[in-house]
Amino acid sequence: MEQLRAGVHYPRSTGEFQAWFGTDEDCLDYLEWLRWPGGFTCQRCGHGMGWRLGDGRFECARCRSRASVTAGTIFDRTRTPLTVWFTACWLFATAKDGISALGLQRALEIGSYQTAWAMLGRLRSVLVRPGRDRLSGTVEVDETYIGGDEPGLSGGRARGKKVLTAIAVEVREPRGIGRCRMAVVADGSSASLHPFVTGHVRPGATVITDAWMGYHGLAGLGYVHQRRSQRAARARGEDPGELLPAVHRVASLAKRWLLGTHQGSVDEAHLPGYLNEFAFRFNRRRSASRGLVFYRLLELAAGHDPVRYHDLIVRPRSRAAPSAPPTIRGHPPSLERPGANRPWRAAEMQLSLPYSG
Ligand SMILES: [Zn+2]
Repeated sequence: MEQLRAGVHYPRSTGEFQAWFGTDEDCLDYLEWLRWPGGFTCQRCGHGMGWRLGDGRFECARCRSRASVTAGTIFDRTRTPLTVWFTACWLFATAKDGISALGLQRALEIGSYQTAWAMLGRLRSVLVRPGRDRLSGTVEVDETYIGGDEPGLSGGRARGKKVLTAIAVEVREPRGIGRCRMAVVADGSSASLHPFVTGHVRPGATVITDAWMGYHGLAGLGYVHQRRSQRAARARGEDPGELLPAVHRVASLAKRWLLGTHQGSVDEAHLPGYLNEFAFRFNRRRSASRGLVFYRLLELAAGHDPVRYHDLIVRPRSRAAPSAPPTIRGHPPSLERPGANRPWRAAEMQLSLPYSG
């Protein structure tokens, strides 16, 4: 495809977003364009010719299989209108700190917390592109404890615990921070930390760590390994807590985000998804346009296999849960609305009508 252009291929602003995606059909057409930029391609046989049926689905000209634009994507069989999905994607991609499930539920009149939570869970699950670039240049690596509780899903407050999380952050001279990667690790052993480094940092990079033994042996894995010891820092009169400033900065931003936007309510089993969401937004914080981030998110969503609700609900510990809270059933209304005709003026008119009789 030609170079992506703001205002043509993705909206530049919230105003443009609203103007472009006023109806569910507009959203469906955008997904179709995104998914098949060169025209329809059959999912089953790969044939490139087909036609649109009356119900909006496509039929392959060769094998005659029928599919909707959303089939095989995370929007597959969704009963949530696409206007609601698109607005969720817009908020997810463009709000500085993203949005919580409760915030989404209230903003978009979504009947149940579970539905809103599952929408965000599906978006989180598409964020990790297979084969994405590993970090390069100079990279600080460290581990820290992150996490907490997550209420509402199993009735009552699920007691979470803090989870050991490995963090890698690119350092840009003289004082800048580049991209980050985070992952939950089982423990601080080299059996856990070495795979984290090799999976997220390109060989040849300079890796800076503290003197912890879990990082011993990185030089043998193709890295230039710089170890900073707390004792040496103390001897130099430096703050030993500031050995790895980039990683500590990112860790504190991530913790603050979990406490702020999500009020710390993140279950251990779901933490990896939240870490991916944080890194997705953090690594695009200097993107020229938030609309482009929205485009990338939808592109990932349209290119990702369906995610079942069952797969989102991870229950690591079986516990005697109290009965589940009552769930309001029903699907959120479309955000597609007819013109309201300035109801505040209409109310004024009624008041000023003369009494008859
Ligand atoms: Zn076909």
